[in-house]
Amino acid sequence: MIKKYTLSVSKTYRNRSAKRHRASTKKVWVRYFVEVDDWDEEHPEVKFGQERVNFFQAMYYKTQKYHRCHYYCFECENVFFALSKNKNKADCPNCSE
Ligand SMILES: [Zn+2]
Repeated sequence: MIKKYTLSVSKTYRNRSAKRHRASTKKVWVRYFVEVDDWDEEHPEVKFGQERVNFFQAMYYKTQKYHRCHYYCFECENVFFALSKNKNKADCPNCSE
C-alpha cells in the first residue's frame, strides 16, 4: 500500500531562475511529500517528491502536514524516527506492536 505524507506546502515562483525580479512572475503552490510504499514491511520504499497544487488543495494540505522527527520513547527507552502530525507525539514502533 502506498501512503503519501505531506511534509510542507509552500508558495514558489514558477520560473524562479529564468524570470527573477519580475512582477509578472506567477507564484504557484507546491506540495512536498514523501511516498511510502510498505508492501514489504521490512524494507519500505520511500520516495520524496513535489507537485503543483491549487490554492484550495494547498490550504487543505497545510492542515495535514507531517513532521519528520526523532522521538524518544520513555517506556522502552527507544529513539525512533517517524512521521507524525504532532511534533511531540508519535507511536513508538516497539510499543505499538
Ligand atoms: Zn517504546
